[in-house]
Amino acid sequence: MRSKYCLAFISVFLSSAILAQSLPEKSANEAWSYEELIASYKQLDQNYLNASFIDVGPTDAGPDLSLFLIQKEPFNSELSLSELAEGKLVTLINNGIHPGESCGMDASLLFAKEVLETGGPEAGQLIAIIPVYNIGGSLQRRPNTRANQNGPVEQGFRGNASNRDLNRDFIKADALNTFSFWALYQQLRPHIFIDTHTSNGADYPYTISLIASQKDKLAPPLARFLEEEMAPALYKGMAKNWPMIPYVNVFGRTPNDGYAAFMDLPRYASGYTALFHSLGFITEAHMFKPYPDRVAATFEFLNQSLSFAELEESAIKEAFKAAQAWELEADAFPVAWTLDSTDQRKLPFNSYDYSYTKSSLGNYQRLQYDRTKEIALEIDYYPSYRAKAMAAKPKYYVIPQAWRDVILRLQYHNIQMTALDRDTLIQVESTYLKDWEHQTRPYEGHFRTDIKAVKQRNQKRKFFKGDYLVSTDQANSYFLVSVLDPMAADSYISWGFFDIIFQQKEYFSPYVFEDIAIKMLEEDPKLEEEFELWKKQNPKAISNAWATLSFFYQKSEYYEPEHLRYPIASIP
Ligand SMILES: [Zn+2]
Repeated sequence: MRSKYCLAFISVFLSSAILAQSLPEKSANEAWSYEELIASYKQLDQNYLNASFIDVGPTDAGPDLSLFLIQKEPFNSELSLSELAEGKLVTLINNGIHPGESCGMDASLLFAKEVLETGGPEAGQLIAIIPVYNIGGSLQRRPNTRANQNGPVEQGFRGNASNRDLNRDFIKADALNTFSFWALYQQLRPHIFIDTHTSNGADYPYTISLIASQKDKLAPPLARFLEEEMAPALYKGMAKNWPMIPYVNVFGRTPNDGYAAFMDLPRYASGYTALFHSLGFITEAHMFKPYPDRVAATFEFLNQSLSFAELEESAIKEAFKAAQAWELEADAFPVAWTLDSTDQRKLPFNSYDYSYTKSSLGNYQRLQYDRTKEIALEIDYYPSYRAKAMAAKPKYYVIPQAWRDVILRLQYHNIQMTALDRDTLIQVESTYLKDWEHQTRPYEGHFRTDIKAVKQRNQKRKFFKGDYLVSTDQANSYFLVSVLDPMAADSYISWGFFDIIFQQKEYFSPYVFEDIAIKMLEEDPKLEEEFELWKKQNPKAISNAWATLSFFYQKSEYYEPEHLRYPIASIP
């Protein structure tokens, strides 16, 4: 921010008298480029005292991530982002995470311009817009990155500068963009979060569809508010000009047989923001609709959201506070989910007629929609998910300082940690991995691991000066448990941050260990019983020296307790 804010005494009304700003010229089927968008926001910042353009942090592509802010009164350049957000109803709009889906980038600039030209939002509102999140992908503009999309003539590319899908990166944070997002998000702590997209998949008449952050992952008071108040108001507000439908979550078939709500796990933008009690929305404009219509429908959604925020400011803030209280009081959090197929509802849905005909290319039936025939249906809709894993919230986690990558990510979330001031023996619960499956192909740069079963063991373990004691009696504990509990859908262990513990470090020489095993058997009759049982259960292994001796090694004092032990301990 610059010195113009020293002129804060000048009335905002004076600034709005400045001539309306013209935007870069383009045809209806073109999208503004990254450079044009940034230049336009900078111009708005010049023209309006109640607008502010700032750089917030690095991205993989090189240029800093930018943020554009709008409020009623002139900005004070002395204030930090968190001070600006203090007491305000904050809406954060993210654009261009998939830069080929540019309707939100264009709609947000039009929205910012209109809000400023009409005197700004109501006092008490702070609007924050990320003009372009995936800058690297936006700079890769070309005419053909979206095979089935109806314009614009040039589109950005989905991968960022390091070829990552940033909309899977919100927990693992491989990209610098994500660290910059975390920093701005944690300062703003928005009540409302909107991420703008364009759909793939089925064909249907609606120009825009919506993913509201999956309700069963939200703090219950927030879920209630979303389901009973905000979502219905948004659908109602959109109905007049751009009727909206829940995101059509089907691929390779028609929606006519029904569909389920999208599960936005924490790796996705709105799944991440759900952990911090934002009312999260993903707009999905339909890929086949004319580009200007997609921009207009997204623009209308932003308007509807702002109107609701202005009208319901105190109710939104109340729901947010109730969610924070729930987080502090909860004993356990849901961390993995499965579709609840028993909660089936009827959804009015306008569909296109369709047919299947034999493909002329291969031996299969091809699906074809007939856009001249619209049919009004009532289809089955499944909005609910059940928690398949609840993670108990321990009193403390103990995190050895060696796990720097995880500690850094917690620090970005303002997690308070106390470093031990001396080496200390602590009675803890250790988690041992019992059943898991490593993925054999990389997903977003990681060979993920699905942890299926764990076992807790009570142990006295030595921790060292500088290791961290982390209380869960603090803000952001929902996030903390969602990344540290091994059973969580997007835990750091699932993303490979602890892969090293799957590998045993010390072994034995069979010709020496044979004698030790015999001695162990002689000294422990119980072990003999266990060995007999093991032989019955593993009739083939008995012919294998290594397998047989491993049975004894793993029960001996030589076997390392670190093998398959999750390094982060908890104190219940
Ligand atoms: Zn997208």
